[in-house]
Amino acid sequence: MTDMPIKPRLTFVDRPSPNFNERKGVTPQILVLHYTAMATAEAAIQRLCDPAAQVSSHYVIDEQGVIYRLVAEDKRAWHAGVSYWDGKTDLNTSSIGIEIANPGDVPFAKAQMDAVTALCRDIVKRYKMRAIYVVAHSDIAPDRKQDPGELFDWQGLAANGVGIFPSPNAGDYKTAATWDAAAVQSNLARLGYRSGIDLAVLVTAFQRRFHQDVFKTPASVGIADHETKARLANLVRRKAIADGLRARTKS
Ligand SMILES: [Zn+2]
Repeated sequence: MTDMPIKPRLTFVDRPSPNFNERKGVTPQILVLHYTAMATAEAAIQRLCDPAAQVSSHYVIDEQGVIYRLVAEDKRAWHAGVSYWDGKTDLNTSSIGIEIANPGDVPFAKAQMDAVTALCRDIVKRYKMRAIYVVAHSDIAPDRKQDPGELFDWQGLAANGVGIFPSPNAGDYKTAATWDAAAVQSNLARLGYRSGIDLAVLVTAFQRRFHQDVFKTPASVGIADHETKARLANLVRRKAIADGLRARTKS
């Protein structure tokens, strides 16, 4: 894809948080996006800087697109909690966390999304992160977390080179038509989700990220319909291709 120009004037403000420890030599490979679920960005920053709260993130991005730096990228911030993705646990050690100021149920402002996009593009590039390793908090803790929620524009982010978004073709729809519940479960695990969680919970997490339209019809949330399965088939196929390419470059 063509490189879109990174927004030139990103505004950074330092608001150091004491809530971090050492990565012990681990390089970040995963980017985790969150919403703050608080009334204001300031309230979220204060909590993320409060030693008693024992939580933090590397960045907070407010509604105007101002980026607050709380924890240095080479330190381990405390944003993921008990988490799992693609065989990895303790994601705080191997990830960078961005908190996006949003109470949880309102659309994200354009200035804010521009800053999110630019910062994510920069991080993904610097650490050469895999597209599949740009994740929602709800992907890595699907039984506990919903953020950054079904209003977050993952498709737009992917169109700007950050993460991945499904674009199923005829073959993916055909594959999906043969899948029973067990196949959906195993393919969700292949994509990266933790196994051993209720299938409806996993499908809900997947839809919150990759098929947000279902949330307009609450009764269809958590049900793996043909479109949901086809999107999953598409992503699993693309991940397998990327895995193959990586294996070849490494050998
Ligand atoms: Zn979160």
